[in-house]
Amino acid sequence: MAEKVVIIGSGPAGWASAIYTARANLRPLVFEGAVTEENRQAGTLPLGQLALTTEVENYPGFPKGLLKPYLESAIDESRRQMMGPLSDEPHAVTGPELMELMRQQAVNFGTRIITDDIVAVDFQQRPFRLTAREGTVTEAHTVIVATGARANYLGLPSEERFKNRGVSACAVCDGALPRFRNRPLVVVGGGDSAVEEATYLTKFASIVYLVHRRDALRASKIMQQRVFNNPKIEIVWNHVVDEVLGNDEDGVTGVRLRSTVDESTRELEAAGMFLAIGHTPNTAFLQGQLELHDNGYIRLTTPFRTYTSVEGVFAAGDVADDYYRQAITAAGSGCQAALDAERYLAAQEI
Ligand SMILES: Cc1cc2nc3c(=O)[nH]c(=O)nc-3n(C[C@H](O)[C@H](O)[C@H](O)COP(=O)(O)OP(=O)(O)OC[C@H]3O[C@@H](n4cnc5c(N)ncnc54)[C@H](O)[C@@H]3O)c2cc1C
Repeated sequence: MAEKVVIIGSGPAGWASAIYTARANLRPLVFEGAVTEENRQAGTLPLGQLALTTEVENYPGFPKGLLKPYLESAIDESRRQMMGPLSDEPHAVTGPELMELMRQQAVNFGTRIITDDIVAVDFQQRPFRLTAREGTVTEAHTVIVATGARANYLGLPSEERFKNRGVSACAVCDGALPRFRNRPLVVVGGGDSAVEEATYLTKFASIVYLVHRRDALRASKIMQQRVFNNPKIEIVWNHVVDEVLGNDEDGVTGVRLRSTVDESTRELEAAGMFLAIGHTPNTAFLQGQLELHDNGYIRLTTPFRTYTSVEGVFAAGDVADDYYRQAITAAGSGCQAALDAERYLAAQEI
């Protein structure tokens, strides 16, 4: 028998959709992704992007506090080790803790979960047909796509080593952390988001070096002017980051740059390196089945709705949002998708 609602993805958008559809008695089935080396490398393991970070200070409802007793009482014992050792100190909720809490909340209302990727969909047929990596086929009357996106990194081993210890792909998420206060910071990129992140980081940094591989920015003229006028931003033209420098105790201490003109190298002291070289939405498996924008994000068809180009298929979170990209906005649109799916099913009398 076909499922009423299948949710693909396991970030804040997926779990918010699951909580709402489960509470509406729609018995959602979530494909949370597979635990594979390929997904680990890509940063797309189950529980999504937030599970890749340390403390999350901006998700409403979680001010800093002693979370250990709460986590021990809320999370099923079988999942506790997924959060790592629980701290005895007051702290802001960590990404893995917050994601386990969301998953548990969905399970508490009867959500069923399959730990596998959906690798192909057929939205031409009704019910829709979804094929998982292990080969199983699931039929569904509605589908909520919440597969998120992944930040692009340079791919340097030293960058991997210092992720969460000075290397970040989200200035809005991490810029205010104490380690970056009044210290020099590096932003890598040359488009609008690089310029925006550099400008944002000047609130905290002593100076921001904007490292760009070319001799002109791709950002819009007005954004460029903002950077040129900001005395706390120094643009380092025609350079790429060759290596992130640091040690186990301090994390990032600087970067080694290489000139794209003459290959010469130089070092910059910095407490952090922020990547702003774009994101890749996890939509490869939707090609030809759902309308996507040129940059691969799902095209939503109606303002303030989660409708896609196929009736009965809804999209939530970063997979359809290349602009806000926050846990709270993803969770909010997950709720919207659940309500949209519920109303669609009611209208179809399914
Ligand atoms: C390092 C870092 C730090 C961040 N810090 C913060 C912060 O402090 N505060 C904040 O608000 N935001 C933060 N963000 C942004 C936030 O994590 C994202 O906006 C949010 O997680 C998006 O949620 P989502 O539900 O759309 O999808 P994601 O979190 O992207 O999760 C989607 C998941 O679905 C699964 N999936 C993908 N494809 C498939 C498939 N084909 N089949 C089955 N499953 C699949 C994967 O596990 C994937 O990871 C941070 C992001 C990063 C990278």
